[in-house]
Amino acid sequence: MSPWTEVGDRVFTRRYVFYDQNIGAILGDDGVLIVDTRVSHRQADEILADLKSLTTLPIRAVVNTHGHNDHAFGNHRFRPAPIWGHERCARMVTETGTDQLARVAEAIPAMADELAEVVLDPPDRTFGDEGATVDFDAGGRQILLSYLGRGHTDNDVVVIVPDADVMFGGDLVENGATPYFGDGYPMEWPATAERLVELVTGALVPGHGDVGDRAFAVRSMVEIRTVADLASLVLDGTIGMEDAVLRTAYPADTAREPLERALAQLRGELD
Ligand SMILES: [Zn+2]
Repeated sequence: MSPWTEVGDRVFTRRYVFYDQNIGAILGDDGVLIVDTRVSHRQADEILADLKSLTTLPIRAVVNTHGHNDHAFGNHRFRPAPIWGHERCARMVTETGTDQLARVAEAIPAMADELAEVVLDPPDRTFGDEGATVDFDAGGRQILLSYLGRGHTDNDVVVIVPDADVMFGGDLVENGATPYFGDGYPMEWPATAERLVELVTGALVPGHGDVGDRAFAVRSMVEIRTVADLASLVLDGTIGMEDAVLRTAYPADTAREPLERALAQLRGELD
């Protein structure tokens, strides 16, 4: 059985157990566009091996949805393909890449050797908040890269395949797990998620977890908005932090970081 699932016309996802992550492969007439590249060269090589069961077409383009290790640190194995990403994604890989690798190695010591092999290779086809269109295919298939505002990071882009009615939402949406807020902007994320909801008409592939739809996007947006609302109530003294931790949509043992990050943003500490 193919490890790939077709979520729209010639738009495939492969779900990896590690970090329960979704990788995208969008096929054109003469090439493939890959969405996100995983944590290491070895993990990237796994994508390349799995791709052989899907197509013999060459990789014409790669997109990083944002600059976190699991989305961009396999990049080097996809060269010489051009790698697209927001200009702040490239900056994030360049400026925080070494620290990110150290953090993963600390969390998963068994991966230390594998992580030491990683050559940080930030996107070279960068664009700003206006987004970009990737014409990666002679057959005319166009892919839209849209920046919707700060959220999970300051450089998240969604990948839209209009003719297949599919969106890759990156880590702006996660299914079945608390989104990572550690580099996020929790007070702006709800509005960003609202813009995402408006753009979803078909399948929505989250960075991690089950593929969803517009209803999933709405649920995610409401959950993120709850964090922002609760943090505002904590700030003005209406409720305490311990109550807020119990009132998010997330398991209590994962709710503190989102709330603390939101409070930090409310206090003006993030800009
Ligand atoms: Zn991320």
